[in-house]
Amino acid sequence: MEYQKLFIKINNGLQEFHDLGQVADYIPELGKVNPNKFGVHLTTVDKQHFGFGDANEKFSIQSISKVLALTLAYTLEDENLFKRVGVEPSGTPFNSLFQLEADNGIPRNPFINAGAIVISDVLVSHLKNPKEDFIQFVQQVAENSEISFCERIVASEKSCGFRNMALANLMKSFGNIKNDIDEVMDFYFNLCSIEMTCQELSKTFLFLANHGVCPFTNTIILTPSKTKRINSIMQSCGFYDEAGEFSFKVGLPGKSGVGGGIVAIHPEKYSIAVWSPKLNKKGNSNKGIEFLERFTSETKISIF
Ligand code: GLU
Repeated sequence: MEYQKLFIKINNGLQEFHDLGQVADYIPELGKVNPNKFGVHLTTVDKQHFGFGDANEKFSIQSISKVLALTLAYTLEDENLFKRVGVEPSGTPFNSLFQLEADNGIPRNPFINAGAIVISDVLVSHLKNPKEDFIQFVQQVAENSEISFCERIVASEKSCGFRNMALANLMKSFGNIKNDIDEVMDFYFNLCSIEMTCQELSKTFLFLANHGVCPFTNTIILTPSKTKRINSIMQSCGFYDEAGEFSFKVGLPGKSGVGGGIVAIHPEKYSIAVWSPKLNKKGNSNKGIEFLERFTSETKISIF
């Protein structure tokens, strides 16, 4: 399949999406990104690459990194992890507080902010040097020692992270945060600050399309069973309160971030990353979702 030509064709048909949506500016640094950027990169499990547009420009992957945090926490805690965080779609915005009180401080899933803060707490408990050890893990999965946190984004998020601090405090009051809140939140904000290009992102996530094994190095990142489960959580919870809509339109497991990135997995075939910074009202990339919908429609292959 010549994906490159298809990317160009789909992009040409998306001109009206140019002006739709808003760049996330509740994190001041994200508001400075050029709203018209667009990149896409697909990597197949048999190691072919297809890219288009700004596919080699770094952007803030934000919540997409929550999948990598979950991957590491799951290998460290096994099924015990799910005593502290659920696997149900929340149907609420990514930073919502209200379900947490009714649920006794147990977040609905690991991909809403509350869930990722619990996962951060788990990693802080297990890792000797949490931030250093985690970025090393990401570099190993990405097979790229240049992947790093972005200090600018960390500082920007800390300056306005009131809701995230509220989530952490509420969970601490229920006993579901074990470590010092400031240390956990420093880890969480660093986790969200990781930068990658579409090419790096699609390559990094390829293990999820390949039963947990990086095709480039044959490194085992996860067991096949855990890989299936992470894909399943992405399918049902990867897009906050738009997860059903993404599944309906695109038909692949995926994860979005407020930096405008989306990664989607076709098990046994490919991993695809798109980036377009303008978001819809649910905090997901407007053009990114439309692009992926047209891509799975044109190729006529999805997991369904
Ligand atoms: N760092 C963002 C926050 O905590 C992550 C949100 C996202 O990408 O969904 O608000």
